[in-house]
Amino acid sequence: MATRSRGGDFDVIIAGAGVIGTVMATLLLARKLSTAGRVAVVADRFATATPADAGWDLRVFAMSRASERLLKVCGVWNSLPPTRVFPYERMCVWDSSGTALGKGSLTFDCAQLGEPNLGHIVDGRALQWQCLQAARAAGVVLIEGVVHSVVTTDEQVSLRLHDGRELRGQLLAAADGTDSKVRELLGIGTAGHAYHQDALVAHVQTEQPHAATAWQRFLSSGPVAFLPLNDGRCSIVWSVARPRAEQLRAMDADAFGAELGAAGGEVLGACKLTTDVAAFPLKLQYALDYARPRAVLLGDAAHVVHPLAGQGLNLGLLDCATLAEVLDEAGGPGNFGDYKFLRRYERRRRSENLLAAAALDGLERLFSSTDPLSAGLRGAALGAVGKMPFVKRRFAQRALGLAGDVPEYLKAIT
Ligand SMILES: Cc1cc2nc3c(=O)[nH]c(=O)nc-3n(C[C@H](O)[C@H](O)[C@H](O)COP(=O)(O)OP(=O)(O)OC[C@H]3O[C@@H](n4cnc5c(N)ncnc54)[C@H](O)[C@@H]3O)c2cc1C
Repeated sequence: MATRSRGGDFDVIIAGAGVIGTVMATLLLARKLSTAGRVAVVADRFATATPADAGWDLRVFAMSRASERLLKVCGVWNSLPPTRVFPYERMCVWDSSGTALGKGSLTFDCAQLGEPNLGHIVDGRALQWQCLQAARAAGVVLIEGVVHSVVTTDEQVSLRLHDGRELRGQLLAAADGTDSKVRELLGIGTAGHAYHQDALVAHVQTEQPHAATAWQRFLSSGPVAFLPLNDGRCSIVWSVARPRAEQLRAMDADAFGAELGAAGGEVLGACKLTTDVAAFPLKLQYALDYARPRAVLLGDAAHVVHPLAGQGLNLGLLDCATLAEVLDEAGGPGNFGDYKFLRRYERRRRSENLLAAAALDGLERLFSSTDPLSAGLRGAALGAVGKMPFVKRRFAQRALGLAGDVPEYLKAIT
């Protein structure tokens, strides 16, 4: 359980104990950027252990090669239960006007790219728990509490919790998610828009084997993805307008399975629902600044993107990797709050994340358009990319998280 700290001084205080907060904290200590015991994570709640008999969590993440490497640095990757990690070898995306593996589709195959796989599907609950365990093992101080106020001065940043405890540090990193309280307290605004869609998430048994392939069909009503799990089932992420989401969730399992099969173009045959269906409202949101003197934003506190390419967490982990690299250059905890270094982090990550957000938003718009010109364009575009090995490789490198501004130490790991 979390430490009942009475407050105190730290080099770095991180708000939020999701994957991003716990990985950031562990990374600082794992890379010896701070003195053990001087990094704290404060959160309103902490992950709990996965029951031994629990199956796959409803939340799964498609994780890139860069994320895998970062989690190796933190000692998380090799602690994940093998039954809750599944490497996928192929990815097939297609427009509803075409067919999977046929005209108007785009397929990536790890063998053709000389990669062992294209990434892994990872269980959300197991990941959260192992990230927390790694933070604990690294000596991160875990403090249960809700952030109430933040005051920054030239000398320090102090965080007051709802119960009156005060924590002081050199740097405050906000990893407290989409509705970040710390971002609000720092006076950092956001821009973006709602998609007026929900992502429906569930696990299904399909008639045909998934063939270690991530399948995604684009419909004008939103994309539907089938992510392969190692028990033979698929985890689905199906984005639809909110009224339709409510209608689908109210259906019985058989009716839902039939609608899902049709939405997926029957690519894997009939679908049988094996779990509840959860819904996540979707939006595009980006913070206008990532840094203030003595404070930075990370993960969903800084950016929220459409899940159609499974990139949100992967982008957040690259925030962590980059901030660690920048703080390494700062020459010791005394300089961690120096705006000059924090701006360096902001410049590097904001441009990468905006690029990804714009690309995903553009894809969402292109594929949801009912304009016949767009419909023709998207099928042709997918087909054309498939015929250009160089362009295709560039796309794959982006999806693996190995293109663009990637910290040097992540490139060096295999
Ligand atoms: C349907 C769906 C599918 C997705 N699939 C993928 C995928 O396949 N791959 C991928 O990379 N990404 C995916 N994402 C994105 C991913 O879920 C998020 O980017 C990621 O979970 C964000 O992690 P985080 O640690 O930044 O925030 P969170 O997980 O939201 O953690 C925030 C933390 O802050 C704490 N907190 C909040 N407020 C306070 C407060 N006031 N005081 C103290 N603590 C506080 C919370 O308790 C929590 O511990 C998906 C998203 C959706 C909606």
